[in-house]
Formats: sequence, C-alpha cells, structure tokens
Amino acid sequence: MDFIELIDSYKEDIIKSTQEIVRIRSVEGEKKDNMPFGEGVYLALQYALNLAKDMGFKVKNIDNYAGHAELGEGDETVGVLVHLDVVPEGDGWTYPPFGGEIHDGKIYGRGTVDDKGPAIACLYAMKALKESDLNLNRKIRIIFGTDEESGWECVKHYFKHEKAPDMAFTPDAEFPVIYGEKGIIIFDLVKKIKSNQDGKLILKSLKGGNAPNMVPDYCEAVIETEDLSQIEQKFNSFVDTTNYPLHMKKEKNTITISAEGISAHGSTPEKGKNAITYLMAFLGKIFKETSDIGEFIKVYNERIAFKHHGESIGAAFEDDISGKLNFNPGMIRLENDEIRLTINIRYPIKLSAREIYDGIRNNLKDTNVELVEGEDDSKPLYVPKDSELVKKLMKVYREQTKDIESQPITIGGGTYARALKNAVAFGPVFPGQEDVVHQKDEYISIDHLMKITKIYAHALYELAK
Ligand SMILES: [Zn+2]
Repeated sequence: MDFIELIDSYKEDIIKSTQEIVRIRSVEGEKKDNMPFGEGVYLALQYALNLAKDMGFKVKNIDNYAGHAELGEGDETVGVLVHLDVVPEGDGWTYPPFGGEIHDGKIYGRGTVDDKGPAIACLYAMKALKESDLNLNRKIRIIFGTDEESGWECVKHYFKHEKAPDMAFTPDAEFPVIYGEKGIIIFDLVKKIKSNQDGKLILKSLKGGNAPNMVPDYCEAVIETEDLSQIEQKFNSFVDTTNYPLHMKKEKNTITISAEGISAHGSTPEKGKNAITYLMAFLGKIFKETSDIGEFIKVYNERIAFKHHGESIGAAFEDDISGKLNFNPGMIRLENDEIRLTINIRYPIKLSAREIYDGIRNNLKDTNVELVEGEDDSKPLYVPKDSELVKKLMKVYREQTKDIESQPITIGGGTYARALKNAVAFGPVFPGQEDVVHQKDEYISIDHLMKITKIYAHALYELAK
C-alpha cells in the first residue's frame, strides 16, 4: 500500500491544522468547571476532537481529561497515544511562541514537535487509511492526553473508563523504536545536623539545583567565620590546583562560595557538570570529617562525586538490555537542621526499585546518612525486540527512511509509552536531528511533518491490517 500521493494531497490541510492547534496556548492552567487542566488545554482537546469528527471518525471525550478518535471495527485495538498540553513557552523566542508562523519551511511554536505536530500527523495518517478504503482487522484509536507535561492524570482518568489498546505507540520521543526504558525513582539522602558549626566555621546555608531530574548548574554555600583569610587562602590554592569553576565573595565575616556547572537531563548525568559536586569537593577541604556537616560532605565526596552510575554507593547495577544505572544528585538543601540531597536514579530494566534501595541502604550502614524513599516508582518499560509491535514498526521505519542500519533502542528517560501496556515510543525526532523540545524557537519543518505523517500511516496500516 502506498499512501504517499494521498498524504501529499493533504499537505495544505496538515499545515493549517498544525498552525491552528499550536495557536491554542494549552499550558496547564487553573482548574475550572469541566476543565480539569484549565481552559487552554480544554480548547486544544476540543479542537482535536472536532477535527477528527470532521474527518469522519468516531470520537469520544472522557470528561475533558482525554479523548479519542477511532477508525474501524475489530476485537483488538491499535492505539496511538499523543498529548495536546505543552510546557510554558519561556523567554527568548525569535517568533511568537503561539503564532504558528512559517519561516524557511518551518512551523514555529510551542508544541510543534512536542506533541501537537505529531498528533496532527497521526490524525491525517488515519485519514489516509480511511480514504484508501483498506480492510483492517483491528480498530485504530488515537488517544489525546492533555496532562502529559505535569501529572499524567489525563491517562489515569481515561483508563479508568476505557479499555487499554492491545498494542500502541506514542509519537512523543525519538525514532527508531524505543523498546526499553529504565525505571525511575527519586529519593533523598538525609543527614540530621545537630550543629552547623565546625570550630571557627559555621555553615549558614547550602543550596544547589532546582529539579531532581536535571544536573544542577549552580550551587552555593554561605559560611560564617572570624578567619576569612584562612578560607581565602585554601580556596585560592584549591582552585589553582583543580581548576574547578568556583567563585568566592566576601562580606564582613561571611563568605559565599559558589560553583557553576553545566546542566543536562537527569537521564544522562555524564553529559553535564554537577555544581554540587564541585562545591562539595572544596567544602571537604575546610570542614573536618568529624563534624556533623563534614561527615555528610565526606560521604558525598567518597561515594557520589564524579560517578554517574552509583558505583561507589552500593548501586553498581546493570543488565544486558539497558546497561548501567544512571545516578543524578539533582538538589541539595540545608534546612530545618538537616542536609537533604535529592537523587534521581534510572535503574536497569531487569532490576527493581527495592534492589536499588537495599543496595544503597546497605552501603550507608556505617554512616549517619539516612535514605528516605520517594513516593513514586516509575517501573521500567520493556517490549521484546522480537514482538510483533517492535518488528513491524522497525520494518516500516527502515522502509520509509531507507535507514536499514538502525536498531531499536533503550533509553534512561521515561516516555508517554509508560502509560500503557505493550507500548513503545516511535518518533517523531530522527537520529541526529536538532533537539528543540521544551526549548525556545521550537519548530517542526514541513518536510519533517509530512515525512512522519507518511511513516505513521504505514505503521498504522501494518499494525491494523
Ligand atoms: Zn511530549
């Protein structure tokens, strides 16, 4: 089957629909009557369902939490999970973030690639199947989530009322097929502090990072002391020998030491430079190990600093599918008589959160640092490479892109596919393509949009025929 000509004939409509839905500012907002995630999100869902209805699909709105558009009959369902909410636009855009303007063959706007463009592409892909009058053995259902960027309440609500598809993909990550995703936990290491004083030094404050799932690019400590010159001397010689990106500011009897790192996503801590780590390295030179503060610093420097796989803190886990565990110390605070370090771990597919927690607890037994488990355990996702779903999607991807070398991949990040069983992420970003997701000047080129519409049409046909 060849949908190329048919989809090319939709080109103007695909562009127009993408522009129109991008113009709806569907950032999660204040809850209103019948609008669980605010008015913008509500309007985006209305838009998608109306468009689907105009195309002749059966549509259903589940209390404005989510909705779906459906084609065909059959006992089994092929699902596509997309989302219509977007992250806030942020600053620094060249073109209006909710303008849907076209420049140099690219449609600009928040959500163009994450995930409204792909949502529109899938709708037109399903339209191509419908208008080709093909025999399908399975139903196809595109599910529109509206709360992917915050709490996934949309899908939780949806699946309370609707049966999950038998197999599905989500066009909300990368090509080719992501068949495995590591488990994700967030937890704290806490040390109670009886005294923040060590001889002549008082640690007044310690603060770094803003989110557990990011490598912190800033961390600072404020220290009070009568002996500024001694700290200054130690600081200068430390920076001379290590070249760490540290800065110092003096004011009366306090001294502020700050570290500048490089941010990166928490699933790839090795791509960033952790500001907490630089700062702790210096603090370890001035606080004695026997002090309350010093003991925590020592644990950090010996078991955590500069290691990205938990190898020195009892978490050196790996498996043959997804590789090594990823370990990201994302935030640190000195507050309410305790130091609290928040850590984001991506654990290998074959392991469990329990094994990770046990490993770290066991390692910390000889310290006064306590592990406080997080509430959530986002369990790993795994669909075997030789499953029908992965095999068919890979076949379509290779045929459509002529990229026959690519293999299905596993990642440390979590995609929307976790909301389902027997689901994988499939596109829309091609290997090597510029990453504009959640950034200023997010765009999707019209060529890219047309290409993915064709890939998704073939994928849906392969899975549903
Ligand atoms: Zn997304």
